[in-house]
Amino acid sequence: MLLFHGIEDHEHDAFDRLVAYIAREHGVISPTEAVAESADQDVVRPSWCLPCLFTFDDGFGSNFEVAASILDRYGVKALFFVCPGLTDLEGDMQRQAVARQLFQGRIDAEDLPSGMRLMNWDELCNLKSQGHVIGCHGMRHQRLTEITKEELVEEVEAAGDLLDTRLAQKTDWYAYAFGDIGSIDRLAMEAISRRFRYCRSGVRGANGRQTNRMAFCADSLSPGAPLSYQKLLIEGAVDVLYVRRRRALEAFAVKAAIT
Ligand SMILES: [Zn+2]
Repeated sequence: MLLFHGIEDHEHDAFDRLVAYIAREHGVISPTEAVAESADQDVVRPSWCLPCLFTFDDGFGSNFEVAASILDRYGVKALFFVCPGLTDLEGDMQRQAVARQLFQGRIDAEDLPSGMRLMNWDELCNLKSQGHVIGCHGMRHQRLTEITKEELVEEVEAAGDLLDTRLAQKTDWYAYAFGDIGSIDRLAMEAISRRFRYCRSGVRGANGRQTNRMAFCADSLSPGAPLSYQKLLIEGAVDVLYVRRRRALEAFAVKAAIT
């Protein structure tokens, strides 16, 4: 799985080249196909030629523009993880929340690029009607390891319910905010496992038929980085550095399944 965030206007050409490269060299897999393949015990592929699933976190408006132009051109169906509690905010309230929750206060709301906004409900419905899948990224993008058990219910379960209602769907996918191994623990994984069928992290690594459905890994890519570097990441050149983190993630998923 590949993980992207917002794609800015000046990155469109680079992103287009990256999608073209992946479609040509690896092949692209849709969210539906990825789930079917992970459950198919007969499918065995070496990690270096695994087809890629495109995923996007945070629900930036630029994702909608990229889907309508670049992804559509290559027939890519992607997975978009959004925070319904932020989707519900408008104007300055939303910009303040984006600066505080998504950027952790590293940038002031007034310094965010003027075009930076989150997708609205109509755009999310539109993506869904195009065959993309909308997953949950937490109600307000809170770090799950820093909130109480009661707050986990609102951040995880209520967020899934809100997406179900607003998008008339059954939300199966969750990607926890920040994605690193320090942003998930057993309690949080239990809350996710109770409500969702699949969970994607931001821990690097390839997924195969043995991957736990609650412990999918993803390679975070930035279209602004050199293509040669991104090719290395896609082909797993640094995966060995993440072995312990993948094991820890898997352990949380296994323990959550038996409690
Ligand atoms: Zn995020």
